[in-house]
Amino acid sequence: MSELGIGTKCVQGGYHPGNGEPRQIPIVQSTTFQYATGAEMGKLFDLESNGYFYTRLQNPTNDYIAARIAGLEGGTAAMLTSSGQAATFYAIFNIASCGDHVISSSAIYGGSYNLFAVTMKRMGIDFTFISPDCTPEELDAAFRPNTKAVFGETIANPALTVLDIEKFARAAHAHGVPLVIDNTFATPVNCRPFEWGADIVTHSTTKYMDGHGAAVGGCIVDSGKFDWTKYPDKFPGLCTPDESYHGVNYTERFGLGGAYITKATAQLMRDFGSIQSPQNAFLLGLGLESLHVRMKRHCENAQAVAEFLNQHDKISWVQYCGLKQDKYYALGQKYLPNGSCGVVSFGVKGGRDAAERFMGKLKIAAIETHVADARTCCLHPASTTHRQMNDAELAAAGVSPDLIRYSCGLEDAADLIADINQALASC
Ligand SMILES: *Cc1c(COP(=O)(O)O)cnc(C)c1O
Repeated sequence: MSELGIGTKCVQGGYHPGNGEPRQIPIVQSTTFQYATGAEMGKLFDLESNGYFYTRLQNPTNDYIAARIAGLEGGTAAMLTSSGQAATFYAIFNIASCGDHVISSSAIYGGSYNLFAVTMKRMGIDFTFISPDCTPEELDAAFRPNTKAVFGETIANPALTVLDIEKFARAAHAHGVPLVIDNTFATPVNCRPFEWGADIVTHSTTKYMDGHGAAVGGCIVDSGKFDWTKYPDKFPGLCTPDESYHGVNYTERFGLGGAYITKATAQLMRDFGSIQSPQNAFLLGLGLESLHVRMKRHCENAQAVAEFLNQHDKISWVQYCGLKQDKYYALGQKYLPNGSCGVVSFGVKGGRDAAERFMGKLKIAAIETHVADARTCCLHPASTTHRQMNDAELAAAGVSPDLIRYSCGLEDAADLIADINQALASC
C-alpha cells in the first residue's frame, strides 16, 4: 500500500490490534511488568532485549501513542513526556550539557525562554537568542565551537512568527549540529518540519494534539536523519559507551533511527522521571483521532476572526500569517500552505488598559493561560505568561505590551466575531 494520508495516520497510526484484541488503544494501568526469571529482566536493564519493566521508563499505551505521533511527523522514533516543558528540556539536555552552547530563536514560548535563559543556564548551558528574521550571516556568526543544537518554533507562541526552517536547518548542518523544532502550534497536520530539514521535533501535546484541554503532555520525535557519528567529539553521549548501561554505545546498538530516543528514555527518563501517565496518553490518543478534522476548523475560524479584526477601527494591528499583508504571509504559504493554527494576535487601540477592558467584556472567549483547544480563550501575555521578561526581551520575543493572544476554538465563527464585536463596542 502507498504511504497513508495524514488523516488515516491520525485515526489509526501506531496501534494495530490483532485478532480479538481491543479496537481502541488499551490503557495499561500498571506500574510494573512481571518476568519468569531475574536473568530475563536483567537483559532489559542492559538494553539487550526489548520489553517493559517499569512505567517510569516505558509503558505500552504511551508507546502506541508515541508511534502514532512519530508516524504523523515522519520520524523513526518518539517518546511521550509528562509535559511540553519536559519534552523541550529532554530534547536539548539529551545532547548538551554543562559547558555547552545552544542557539535559539528569540521568538519562542515564554516557558521555553525561561527554561533556557534561567534554569538551563544554571546547569551551565549557555543560550544565544537570535531573531527568527536574522540573515544567514547573522545566524552563522552565532555559532561557537561548543554549540550543540539550534532551536526554534514553527509558529511562535505567542508572537506568531513563522520560522524559515530551511534557513535554520542549513546553518545548523553547516556547523554539524541538529535543528530542534517545537511544532506545537502547526501540528504535523499543517507542517512536518522533517520535510524541511529539521532533525528533532518537540510538542506540547497539551495544545492541539489533545485539543480538549484535558491532559498536559509532551512528545519528542527523532527524524533519524542526523548522523551523530560524523561528530563523535561533539556528541560523546551518543557515540561512546554509556557506563551507566554497561557500556552500551547508542549509535552502534540502535542505529541513527533509534539512538537519540533510546538514550533519552534510558538516561533522562530513568533519572528525571517525567513520564506521561498512560491515562493521559490514552486521552491524547483520542484527541489525535480528530486532529486533522479539528485543525481545519481552527484555521477557518482564525482566518475569519483575523479578517474581521483587520478591518475594525478599534484594532491597531493584527498578526496572522493567513492575512495577505502579514509579515509572515510568504513564509506561511511556503511552510503552512493548508493553514497555520487557530491563534491570532492583535492589539486594541488604547494599549494595555484597553486590552484588559476588552478581554473583560468577552462572553464566549474565556481568559485562560491555555491556548489551542476546542473552546475559544484569550490571554494578555505581557501581564501573565511573559511577565518575567523586561521590555527589551519582550520586544525580542515579538510580544508587544498590548498584544492579545486569541485562540479560536471550534465554535461557529459568526458567534466568535459577534462576541468580539460587542466587546469592542463597549470598551
Ligand atoms: C505550551 C507550550 C509549551 C510547553 O508545554 P506544556 O505542555 O505547557 O509544558 C512549549 N512550547 C509551546 C509552543 C507551547 O505552546
